[in-house]
Amino acid sequence: MSGIDPEYWVSGMRVMPPFDAERAMQWCTEHNVRLERDGEVLWLPDVAQVRNPRLIQALRLALERMGVRIVERAEVTGIVSTEDRVERLDTTAGFFAAERYVVAAGAWSKKLLGSGRAA
Ligand SMILES: Cc1cc2nc3c(=O)[nH]c(=O)nc-3n(C[C@H](O)[C@H](O)[C@H](O)COP(=O)(O)OP(=O)(O)OC[C@H]3O[C@@H](n4cnc5c(N)ncnc54)[C@H](O)[C@@H]3O)c2cc1C
Repeated sequence: MSGIDPEYWVSGMRVMPPFDAERAMQWCTEHNVRLERDGEVLWLPDVAQVRNPRLIQALRLALERMGVRIVERAEVTGIVSTEDRVERLDTTAGFFAAERYVVAAGAWSKKLLGSGRAA
């Protein structure tokens, strides 16, 4: 859609010791991640990577082509809500209201949402 190749590549991932092999294998089983064991080393053949600056460029261009307006350098300073609904977001670029909201504030999500809400 954007024409920008994000360089998605199923490269696999080699996990080298030291690590807790039992826990690692349990995690792979629980998350349905294929793994092979070679002595002390784990090999996860289906793990993939992307070139994240290119992925973001592709995402941005695709969104702009869909008519999405991107507001940059705007900090969300407050979430105004009733008991079960977010009414609006207060930001340094004014306020915004929408049907749905996606929290993508990474490590700051908990601070943004407040201690009473799950990130
Ligand atoms: C040094 C380092 C190296 C890493 N290397 C790798 C690697 O090689 N491979 C890998 O897969 N991962 C790597 N990671 C981890 C990777 O960077 C994170 O997992 C990823 O960036 C998380 O993405 P995110 O979108 O959830 O959050 P982030 O990328 O942290 O994005 C959150 C955004 O929200 C913004 N924000 C926060 N609060 C507000 C607010 N109130 N209003 C508006 N915006 C707000 C922040 O400014 C930020 O831009 C590395 C991390 C670090 C620190």
